[in-house]
Amino acid sequence: MKKENINKILVNYQEKLDFKKSILKDKKKALYRKIPRLEIIDKEIKMHSLKTNKLILRNPINIEDEISKLKTFIGELKKEKAFILTENNIPLDYLTIKYDCNLCKDTGFLKNGKRCKCLKQKIISNYYEMSNLQHKLDNENFKNFNLNIFSDKAIEGRKKSQKENIREILSKTESFATSFNSSKVKNLLFYGPTGQGKTYLCNCIANSLINKGHLVIYQTAFKLIEIIENARFNKNNFSNKDENYQMLFSSDLLIIDDLGTEFINTFTNVEIFNIINTRLNQNKKTIISTNLSPIQIKEKYSDRISSRLFGNYEMLSFYGPDLRWES
Ligand SMILES: [Zn+2]
Repeated sequence: MKKENINKILVNYQEKLDFKKSILKDKKKALYRKIPRLEIIDKEIKMHSLKTNKLILRNPINIEDEISKLKTFIGELKKEKAFILTENNIPLDYLTIKYDCNLCKDTGFLKNGKRCKCLKQKIISNYYEMSNLQHKLDNENFKNFNLNIFSDKAIEGRKKSQKENIREILSKTESFATSFNSSKVKNLLFYGPTGQGKTYLCNCIANSLINKGHLVIYQTAFKLIEIIENARFNKNNFSNKDENYQMLFSSDLLIIDDLGTEFINTFTNVEIFNIINTRLNQNKKTIISTNLSPIQIKEKYSDRISSRLFGNYEMLSFYGPDLRWES
């Protein structure tokens, strides 16, 4: 990945944090104006905490008494503060920053200086051009999933209505997300025509796992192949060691949307097989979504690919009326 892209991401971290800090400062000012006693309490807490720390550092003998007195005093101040806040209907955490990521406190780096998972996710999201998805990810999640838009009419030749079918798939995808770390969880392959909610469910899973701090790559097969080709045949001094390319194999979850829309040839067959096979061997989870039927998958892809898919993926069939025509 280009350095200026990483810099941009880091500047973005800084700007966001600065913004949160300045909002907090304003909130504090306004609150102190309204309740001046709070400012005095905060100053006292700060002063006495410093004093306590200094005493502990100097570590002379027989200071336990003094330290315990200070701690009691600070405790009393905190109690008074909590009382005032509660009396004024102000939440106790009103004057604390709400971080997007509590691990790194929105700095992107952990205490040991290593990159936080949230930063790693931002870097691969940038590399795999997932940023356009961010808005979708914010809205398309399990909480917003609406079963009522699916038809409960009987469908000829099917045992279940569209709604019953989706309800089952939904429960399987939810348990995929909640039991993600278990080795018993199978990879998923969504197949069926467009407008059945396949992509929406992929977004739900991506969203849920990214929020839990897993590294997720989510891209259409078409775009994925384009990114691999670009990386291979030009430009950025690509090598197999390229960290972002390696993420295709090592990310916690890879979601390949719209398999079958890419241009299929020997090169893409090899690349796709490599990715699917390596991830299986390393027990890394993959989800594939496609408009192709199992028969079409068999026709279009090498035997090596289809046997890996049919043997190791739970095949989930989507069917029923096209939802895009409904609303
Ligand atoms: Zn973080």
